[in-house]
Amino acid sequence: MTDCLFCKIISGEVAATKIYEDEHSFAFLDINPVNPGHTLVIPKEHSRNIFDISSQSFTHVMETVRKLTPAVKEGSGSDGINIHINNEPEAGQVIFHTHIHIVPRLKNDGRKMWPGNPYEEGVEQKIAKQIIEQL
Ligand code: AMP
Ligand code: ZN
Repeated sequence: MTDCLFCKIISGEVAATKIYEDEHSFAFLDINPVNPGHTLVIPKEHSRNIFDISSQSFTHVMETVRKLTPAVKEGSGSDGINIHINNEPEAGQVIFHTHIHIVPRLKNDGRKMWPGNPYEEGVEQKIAKQIIEQL
């Protein structure tokens, strides 16, 4: 895609600190890391996010995530790793080329996880039914 920042990183038109590349995927350091070593893994085939990525492209990119995660953990000297994908602006996506964040976590790094809240009466079964109906 001509106007996509991450496509331009793949092609070399925009500079990035490359960590890994193979036939189907590319990985580089996030310029604004949660912690040092925060890595983004992207498919070479352009897709917007989880809602339009092909099964093949997703499989390849997730296998790369699996392969790189131990290296990111050891290489950054971290204690744990969060892996996440933001899909659509309401979920925090700002770059519209599918990317998986590999985020090093350190003991006492102060980064907060999302808070959860228990379901109110009857809501859990209702939402489960709604989701199952979409499958
Ligand atoms: P998201 O909010 O999931 O769309 O995340 C986009 C991520 O891309 C952010 O964490 C940014 O810091 C990162 N980012 C944006 N531009 C660049 C760039 N040129 N090189 C590396 N990372 C970038
Ligand atoms: Zn792209």
